Amino acid sequence: MSQSEVSSMRPPLVPLATLIGRELRSEKVEKPSVRCGQAALAKKGEDYFLIKPDCQRIPGNPSTSFSVFAIFDGHNGISAAIFVKENLLNHVMSAIPQGIGREEWLQALPRALVAGFVKTDIEFQRKGKHQLQIFMLNMNTGETSGTTVTFVVIDGWTVTVASVGDSRCILDTQGGVVSLLTVDHRLEENVEERERVTASGGEVGRLNVYGGTEVGPLRCWPGGLCLSRSIGDMDVGEFIVPIPHVKQVKLSNTGGRLIIASDGIWDALSSEMAAKSCRGLPAELAAKLVVKEALRTRGLKDDTTCLVVDIIPPEHSVLPPTPRRKQNMLSSIFGKKPQNSMNKPMSKLSAVGVVEELFEEGSAVLAERLGKDVNWKTNSGLSRCAVCQVDQTPSEGISVNSGTFFSATSNPWEGPFLCTNCRKKKDAMEGKRPSQSTALTT
Ligand SMILES: [Zn+2]
Repeated sequence: MSQSEVSSMRPPLVPLATLIGRELRSEKVEKPSVRCGQAALAKKGEDYFLIKPDCQRIPGNPSTSFSVFAIFDGHNGISAAIFVKENLLNHVMSAIPQGIGREEWLQALPRALVAGFVKTDIEFQRKGKHQLQIFMLNMNTGETSGTTVTFVVIDGWTVTVASVGDSRCILDTQGGVVSLLTVDHRLEENVEERERVTASGGEVGRLNVYGGTEVGPLRCWPGGLCLSRSIGDMDVGEFIVPIPHVKQVKLSNTGGRLIIASDGIWDALSSEMAAKSCRGLPAELAAKLVVKEALRTRGLKDDTTCLVVDIIPPEHSVLPPTPRRKQNMLSSIFGKKPQNSMNKPMSKLSAVGVVEELFEEGSAVLAERLGKDVNWKTNSGLSRCAVCQVDQTPSEGISVNSGTFFSATSNPWEGPFLCTNCRKKKDAMEGKRPSQSTALTT
């Protein structure tokens, strides 16, 4: 076929299927790609991590894909860390209503994370109690173990982080602004948490040695844990709660880098130091460099685990470097959702890579975290527990405005329906009934 023949031909009609295919592909292209690197050095061998880049919101539908990255820093054994790694994602997903779209799923996620964390803690304690009966109070079987959890869900440009304990997740955005997406639940550093634990019946103090000399960080007694939130820890009062701090942000289309790591990193490096130590390098190498830098600074004092996750704009293969922004541009990189499209300063901020903050809540009160506005009734007239998703008749559990299980004089429960078991857990977390550990020994 000669050149003139080709140019004189009329363009063929494009079949509809091809057009739809193109549309689907271009939609796909607009999604960022996610690349992860991991590095670790073990001292006690109690750090665990989870990398699941290929989850699907609707099984079998690749367009509903999302990814999960998590760190579990265990203490007093490894069974809590392993149990959470194996079960938490399923428990979170089971708390998400069926048949909802992507926007609804992102909105439902913070609440589902709270339910999933609490359910995982209840299940672990139930399993531990069972072991306890089998092994006749042999404390070396691991049922006193606990773990921090930093659990990151990435769907498109939206990043949702839920955490208990002190394994941090930081965000390094293009332009060199570093921000913390988690809160440290350490009694030493968190006044609010100290007050909450004390009000719920715990004692906060340092370890006493050498005739009354106080050493080390602030701990919670009984148990001696330095953290105010964790999963597991059956030997500690139930005011050490598994209710996570949750933060959800939407990145600009320049992407960003997450560094998720156990305290082996953060006791050695500030957020800025960690981000700076690996900037401009691919995720796989970056994780190794962060661990190396922490080791160089402090030596191997603790388990040290690091995940580096790059959220990369579609047309790039690695996170693109961008010029530094002027320092005085804004004090915080987080911008609130613009109220209307006429919000000109907001669109300017978007242009320089501002991160849109969608959600943040850290309350340890379950009623404030599960919401009242959800219909928990099933089609069969039963009520579904907001935490464990078990169906019960309303008379078996508690619903809006009923009193607590233990004390009729306490404030009424204002959250959605809870089954008997989860209601007991709620009251124990608020210090309104004896904790699981006390109940075990009586
Ligand atoms: Zn329940």
